[in-house]
Amino acid sequence: MSYDLVIKNGTLVTASSTYKADIGIKNGRIIAIAEKLECDKIVDATDRLVTPGAIDTHVHLEMPIGKYTSTDDFYTGTKAAAFGGTTTIIDFVEAGENQTLVDALEERKSKAESRSIIDFGLHMTIMPHDIKKLNQVQAAFDAGCKSFKIYMAYGNKLNDGEILLAFEAIGEAGGLPIVHAENWDAITTLIDKNIKEGNTGPEWHTKSRPAILEAEAVGRVIDLATYAGVPVHIFHISCPEAIERVKNARIQGHYVTAETCPQYLCLTDEVFEAEGVEGALPICSPPIRGIVDQLELWEYLSSESFHTISSDHCPFTLKEKEAGMEAFNKVPGGVPSIEMRFSSIYSRGVRDGFITVNQWVDLCCTTPAWLFGLESKGDIQVGKDADLVVFNPSKEVELSRESLHEEAGWTPYKDQKITGWPEVTISRGEIIVENGKCLAEKGRGQFI
Ligand SMILES: [Zn+2]
Repeated sequence: MSYDLVIKNGTLVTASSTYKADIGIKNGRIIAIAEKLECDKIVDATDRLVTPGAIDTHVHLEMPIGKYTSTDDFYTGTKAAAFGGTTTIIDFVEAGENQTLVDALEERKSKAESRSIIDFGLHMTIMPHDIKKLNQVQAAFDAGCKSFKIYMAYGNKLNDGEILLAFEAIGEAGGLPIVHAENWDAITTLIDKNIKEGNTGPEWHTKSRPAILEAEAVGRVIDLATYAGVPVHIFHISCPEAIERVKNARIQGHYVTAETCPQYLCLTDEVFEAEGVEGALPICSPPIRGIVDQLELWEYLSSESFHTISSDHCPFTLKEKEAGMEAFNKVPGGVPSIEMRFSSIYSRGVRDGFITVNQWVDLCCTTPAWLFGLESKGDIQVGKDADLVVFNPSKEVELSRESLHEEAGWTPYKDQKITGWPEVTISRGEIIVENGKCLAEKGRGQFI
């Protein structure tokens, strides 16, 4: 058999096994997994792990929020993702008030297609003004949006009745609802109260969003989904109280899945103690909590209560963060994690002994692909897309503005040392990053 590319002598890691083999690639797909494959073009993976390309199912690139737009566009964001071993992202589309869901999808899709260097999908956000368009959900699903985002917070928040209507429409179309769950009424009351009392520093961001109010919303939305008879995926769980609700619902047989993010696993609320704007940079929602919460989240990962780890990459520049310094609720929320996600979970999760190497691949690659219907992605199998990462498990990287390729110009993980980093990232058989160089052409990414 002839191949376009062979990855030789690597240790293959999938969600279920770890073994030595070569991988033969032709026309962008894996066509052989065996010993001693030969080819003119070889990637030598001796002493390296070979994993499926990582999949980040929660990113916000060039996303307009109020007067700002998140800093990475579909080019810089997907390039940073590729440096970190990510070969597929799922971003979002939001329809204008007088726009159809399908028109909005086409517009966002063509923007991403012209810039993205890796493959991408899009979740459709159901905004309050989309409730009158729920009869369009099926058309959006048929056009390629398989998952629908619902906010229980911010200006995009749906009330419980609207959530129920949205769930029914999404369920009928065969889609998956995904939810940002926080008790917004109680949180905004606490924010107002704390600010009125002069408590404006960044540490009050976390104190205004207590864990119990995240857990309450998670529990409520699971009940609404159960009543509507639809599955539900909960985004960015930041605390044990919330994941406990998911765990209990699953024990009762409800179809609920859960995500957490690197910011809840690699940072603690100590970040807010930094002087000046440094202390305000890591503001994101749900908030970064204490060390006990963080360690408990790792325990829940170890016992497989979580299903995916995504980045929720949504940074703003230092200047934009600084403009909101008068009070924590004026600082645009969001942190950059798109590049360090895969490696940090290896370093902090696998090397520190919280999860196995196979759980790492499962959480960052395989279950995300399965959950969002990316059938050709997320695993090392004959017939799958040749989306692969050659990963050096002992390479040490110090995270900094300089070592990362994101546009934000800052990172909340500054000075953190990570052991394990991708050396080669391959997307559909094409080497897109090799030894610190991006080789991919802008716009090569495809909508999936
Ligand atoms: Zn998000």
